[in-house]
Amino acid sequence: NFSVSFPKTSKDELGDLARSIEALAAELNYLKQHRSEFLSSISHELRTPLTYIKGYTDIVRKRNLNEEEQQKYLTIISDETNRLSNLVKELFNLAKMDQNSFVIQKERLDLQPLLEKVSQKLTPALTEKKIHYMYQCQTQLYLMADPIKLELILFNLLDNAVKYSDTESDITLNAWKEKDSILIAITDNGKGIPEKDLPYIFNRFYRVDKSRTRSLGGTGLGLAIVHELVHAHDAEISVTSKEGVGTKFQLTFKEVSK
Ligand code: ADP
Repeated sequence: NFSVSFPKTSKDELGDLARSIEALAAELNYLKQHRSEFLSSISHELRTPLTYIKGYTDIVRKRNLNEEEQQKYLTIISDETNRLSNLVKELFNLAKMDQNSFVIQKERLDLQPLLEKVSQKLTPALTEKKIHYMYQCQTQLYLMADPIKLELILFNLLDNAVKYSDTESDITLNAWKEKDSILIAITDNGKGIPEKDLPYIFNRFYRVDKSRTRSLGGTGLGLAIVHELVHAHDAEISVTSKEGVGTKFQLTFKEVSK
């Protein structure tokens, strides 16, 4: 058997090239646009708490306030300072991830104690909102993960579940084994996420309801960080949600042997 392959000659080589260049230009344009969108989001997010801090500092300084009013304004100043500090911390984390200077130190982990630890950390928020928290984890689930980063992933997801649920709602944390995967699901019956917003919730600064989430202290970076961390682990995250019904985030890790 004998065959000769000739260089593929397209009649329209120049046209093909032009189309590739066009596609490349479109991609660069997209990146440029997103970069400036991102920068303007950052400046907006930084400016808002600063405006509050400046405004309320002026009030406390210039007006003759009674003790109670002073406390009220100082609390706002303190909350907004915390928000700024969180924002800067989260932006710094994302910048490190972007530069790949972010080290994931994977080790073989027993999932159950880690889930218990995260649940413990959440107790004050759960108690305050009288949440019915259910936690089910099979024993002896082993995976490769960075314990600090996995804790951060779970904490962010659970913290959102609490934030976007009414008082006395249900939140469930489940972990189980399926074939050679370890699955972790966080389910709430809170406000849910509208279908049109679902594709964007892992984007930086994306929030479904800006004014509402602001009052809850969100930065809009939590899920972006979760997404980066999950991918750094070669794991997967998926979300299903229905407005007014609830939300479920599911993580899939590869199982490692005992
Ligand atoms: P934020 O700091 O605002 O909570 P995130 O990046 O963590 O930002 O989440 C992005 C947006 O996704 C939130 O502003 C909220 O609108 C929506 N969201 C995230 N988790 C949930 C949830 N469990 N239930 C309802 N909405 C959620």
